[in-house]
Amino acid sequence: MRLKMTQADNLKRAASTIDLHVHTTASDGTLTPEQAVAAAAESGVQVLGITDHDALHGIPAALAAGQRLGVTVVPGVEINTDYGETEAHILGYFVDHTSPGLNAALEDIRRRRLERARNIIARLSALGLGVDEQRVAEIAGDGSVGRPHVARALVEAGYVKTAGEAFARYLGRGRPAYVPRYRLTPQAAAQAIRAAGGLTVLAHPAKVGDDLLVQALIDQGLDGLEAFHCDHSAAQARHYVQLARQRGLLVTGGTDSHGPHSDRPVAIGAVRVPRWVWTYLTELSRSRAGSVEIKRLLDVQRGTPERKQPNR
Ligand SMILES: [Zn+2]
Ligand SMILES: [Zn+2]
Repeated sequence: MRLKMTQADNLKRAASTIDLHVHTTASDGTLTPEQAVAAAAESGVQVLGITDHDALHGIPAALAAGQRLGVTVVPGVEINTDYGETEAHILGYFVDHTSPGLNAALEDIRRRRLERARNIIARLSALGLGVDEQRVAEIAGDGSVGRPHVARALVEAGYVKTAGEAFARYLGRGRPAYVPRYRLTPQAAAQAIRAAGGLTVLAHPAKVGDDLLVQALIDQGLDGLEAFHCDHSAAQARHYVQLARQRGLLVTGGTDSHGPHSDRPVAIGAVRVPRWVWTYLTELSRSRAGSVEIKRLLDVQRGTPERKQPNR
């Protein structure tokens, strides 16, 4: 039942045994949670973070598959937030996926996304471009509906040749069918994650684009930085490990894999994440303590030789 492409990919061992950032069909990934765990197991990944956008419903199946296949599944989530003129993606780890508070918050975000998609479809209709809401929902599948799904529906209906053209002509900012999205602050996302017992981590900080903004986010209260990511160079990874150390934060890492046949396929485990990342993350999650505890862990980390070579 696995896709051909992953079978081929998985013939070789992954670069890393740890991947803390993976999307499934519970949001916009192409592998089901079970398939993602199976792909991880086949390529030798032992620790897998399932971090779907605004969604926790893939977690139970992933946990069950992890038990069956000997993969440690970390229940997580990724919440896109607006931060000034840019976006900050907040990862939550070790969240209680049954938490009524977090589930209600995510439900609210998904509902607002759906409302936005409906408004976009109404605008397109007013422009004479008929797009079927049902079809957009089908394209989105289990995932949270968004502009990429509307773009694909426009391509299917023959109004545009590519999703890129759909954005350039209709869906992008300043275009006739553009509808601003519901703005969620990083603090609100972090609060919802903390209330569900989770640790908060800034995803791919290089994408925030400005270290002053990253520093300001840290000032607002975060548990960690995602230093290792498929979009980070080795130099950027080192830089964010350094910054995390300076600020007394945890380091995490992962591929941000959305599965084969996604817009940009990255195999699970393809980003090297050092073993010590997992050691300290588990310790901290067990202690469930705040910054004082993180500082103690960092003191321990300083004595660890492999900390000096964060890329290994
Ligand atoms: Zn992200
Ligand atoms: Zn992601």
